[in-house]
Amino acid sequence: MNDGRDRELGMGRGITRRDFLNGVALTAGAAMLPSQLLAAADMEATREQSPDYYPPALTGLRGSHPGSFDAAHSLRDGTFWEQAGTPLETGETYDLAVVGGGISGLSAAHFFRKAAGSNARVLVLDNHDDFGGHAKRNEFSAGPRTMLGFGGTFAIESPAPYSPVAKALIRELGIDVASYPKYVNENLYRSCGLYPKIFFDKETFGADRLVINPMTRISGESQDSPAGAAALASFLREAPLSSQAKADYERLVTEKKDYLPGLSSQEKKARLARMSYNSFLADVAGVSPEVVKLFQARPQPSFGIGFDAVSAQDAWGAGEPGFEGMNLDPAPGKGMNRDAIPNEEADNYFFHFPDGNASIARLLVRKLIPQAIPGHSSEDVVMARANYARLDKENSPVRIRLNSTAVRVKHQGDPASARGVEIAYARGGKVYTVRAAHCILACWHVVIPHICEQLPDRQKAALSSAAKVPLLYTNVAIRNWKAFEKLGASAIYAPSCYHSHMNLDLAVSIGGYECSRKPDESIVVHMLKTPCKPGRPAREQHLLGRIELFSTTFEIMERNIREQFASIVGPGGFDPANDITAITVNRWPHGYAYEYNSLWDQFWLEGGETPCEVARKAFGRIAIANADAGAYAYTDCAIDHAYRAVGEITKKAPKN
Ligand SMILES: Cc1cc2nc3c(=O)[nH]c(=O)nc-3n(C[C@H](O)[C@H](O)[C@H](O)COP(=O)(O)OP(=O)(O)OC[C@H]3O[C@@H](n4cnc5c(N)ncnc54)[C@H](O)[C@@H]3O)c2cc1C
Repeated sequence: MNDGRDRELGMGRGITRRDFLNGVALTAGAAMLPSQLLAAADMEATREQSPDYYPPALTGLRGSHPGSFDAAHSLRDGTFWEQAGTPLETGETYDLAVVGGGISGLSAAHFFRKAAGSNARVLVLDNHDDFGGHAKRNEFSAGPRTMLGFGGTFAIESPAPYSPVAKALIRELGIDVASYPKYVNENLYRSCGLYPKIFFDKETFGADRLVINPMTRISGESQDSPAGAAALASFLREAPLSSQAKADYERLVTEKKDYLPGLSSQEKKARLARMSYNSFLADVAGVSPEVVKLFQARPQPSFGIGFDAVSAQDAWGAGEPGFEGMNLDPAPGKGMNRDAIPNEEADNYFFHFPDGNASIARLLVRKLIPQAIPGHSSEDVVMARANYARLDKENSPVRIRLNSTAVRVKHQGDPASARGVEIAYARGGKVYTVRAAHCILACWHVVIPHICEQLPDRQKAALSSAAKVPLLYTNVAIRNWKAFEKLGASAIYAPSCYHSHMNLDLAVSIGGYECSRKPDESIVVHMLKTPCKPGRPAREQHLLGRIELFSTTFEIMERNIREQFASIVGPGGFDPANDITAITVNRWPHGYAYEYNSLWDQFWLEGGETPCEVARKAFGRIAIANADAGAYAYTDCAIDHAYRAVGEITKKAPKN
């Protein structure tokens, strides 16, 4: 570490709230004793009641923030109950207790009230300091302006059409998906001469260079490249690739060749489903390793993993090059990932709020506890300030209790005949219990075996297999985007950098929120990192990536972010020390729900019961929701499984 360089980068500026607690000492919950964990939280027992309690405005390390996961990790490690003491009975009873305050848990509370009546008493517990789960809101102030960012869930979008249930909920929340074009300025960056670019870094490609991205539609990026020959010619002229690599690239994207002649479409798909796209590129299409390196990180925004671990069949579905001459019939092949199956209806069902689907979470909270979020429409929710002190009031039929980790969920008696469930949760230094007639576990499936020991072993194994995809969603507030304008870049794919993608915010203005319209105005840059370990099986990559995210300090992340800005947009005049005004790293070691992959999951290729079907079975008075229940990392899945779970406990389909 070099102090001079740190100063140049602005590491000493103190503009961001650095969570020094986040270091290795707290990681994986291994180093702190439960008593210390509980005592550390004690000071914060009633902090939600303070008028200053406003998590969306916190910067630094967010997402799974320090302090949110220690009780759960301690449970996992078998150390929690050694020191937790006897739980205190609150005496509270509910008709339903929901574990997990993400979109699934909040939807479950909503559907349950529709089934059981609005007087039904519901408690929602979440271990984070904010509600919404992955649907997280980040706020920044830029003088008098508030800037918003999405800390997780980006948009209403799903590779497959929303179900009637999910669509009805979106409508009920007042969101008119078809009205989206009213709010977005799709031409803003193009009209300023900005286009998607690729950043080649010196260490990997021999030279630092920003080059036009010639792919017309780039996965995970919101803006189109200029199509056609001119962009390709410019890319081939400027990219720091060998002449062989350039020739290979050009051949790959322009030639229509059948790389598997003599096979039927079905046979080809079966082959492609069993090889990675990297193998297809290197061994079948025969392109140089430089080209493989260039493509490697492209699928990370959707799949959370690189092309070493995504099948060639999925790459075909996602529109990657090399398949145009292969005469593949358009029907999805066996074992295709749902992210890779194109669907026009789904493509057209898109809506992005400036804080992403945190607006959905906020609209749900408004339905459940109207006093907590002022306003009446899906437009005015964008600027509404949530009143966190209202979330957990005794006289309210619905209560949302944050900073509360469920640590034990068990039937009161035999699950087959019990009249209720007891839920123990850790909060503010103590363990408490509440009782409920029913419980919905809308939390991450890997957590469930540790809190609900009564479940059958086979179900626990299925739940444990739902290991999430780790990732960072980083928002960087900057003073202006003049350097981006100078370099003509709106969205940058940086395959070998710490964050592989960095995009200027989508230009959406809604409900009084005004996006940045001119290069001299402040803006939020959204960055994505997936901590992949190429060459290993997908689940192993996710496990190692998760460990990496839990054990990397914010300071290291911040330095990497500043260095990345310096090397990519520094040549356009960007000065990280002066031009970065805040950094929020949304760390999601347990990020996207794991989606089945034909390279590693035989059952997905060959058929049979999937682990998520085993995992989500109701058990006595306990039902199981969350997006993990459908092994599908989308909001509609979280909603659909909330609806199913409510139906299971109420024994009838709830109204929607
Ligand atoms: C970074 C990111 C970006 C995404 N982008 C999109 C997108 O653009 N569009 C889209 O449709 N989907 C997207 N998804 C997927 C989408 O966010 C999820 O499918 C959906 O929001 C999941 O909701 P959920 O309620 O099932 O889970 P979560 O949002 O994960 O909520 C579960 C909650 O339970 C809590 N919990 C866990 N254990 C306990 C416990 N023991 N006690 C109390 N609480 C507990 C968790 O901390 C969490 O807050 C994205 C996901 C991520 C991670």
